[in-house]
Amino acid sequence: MEITEAKVKLVDDAEDKLQAFATVTLDGCFVVRDLKIIDGNNGLFVAMPSRKLTDRCGKCGTKNHLRASFCNDCGAKIKHRELAVDDQGRPKLHVDVAHPINSKCREYLQSKVLEEFQKEMVRAKGARPDIIKDDRRPKLDVPPAEKEPEKKPAPAQDSEGEKKDGDDKPEFGMGIFS
Ligand SMILES: [Zn+2]
Repeated sequence: MEITEAKVKLVDDAEDKLQAFATVTLDGCFVVRDLKIIDGNNGLFVAMPSRKLTDRCGKCGTKNHLRASFCNDCGAKIKHRELAVDDQGRPKLHVDVAHPINSKCREYLQSKVLEEFQKEMVRAKGARPDIIKDDRRPKLDVPPAEKEPEKKPAPAQDSEGEKKDGDDKPEFGMGIFS
């Protein structure tokens, strides 16, 4: 199999891990869209097009996303089954709709897509220097950066908003507000 064309569309939001979408053409005759270029913890990688897994509502049979709390159709509270986990122990919420079946093909596809991504970044740099940042390159050779201490949210300000769906302590805060 040969990837005869790879197209990359950059995502503008620099805050996001999602850097770009890609479309590839296989052997000049089959197109796969919606590959994603992700800036992960170990550098850039290509995620295959995927869809969210669903489960049927026990009451009406409508398919809902696995993390849904209530049925989209009848509103019934959804009883969750134990989720399947991937090889890193994370719950499987998505399934790839197209993917390589061996590492040789995966590496070939990834190198073609990332190559096109780098070209697109260079092209974009000409037009839009503001969207390129130093941290948007593969991180494989970068030593671990000194971690800035994460800002902790001020609990006194946030607690009111977070309590709204589990408000089982009506007396909370009464001393302050009454
Ligand atoms: Zn339902």
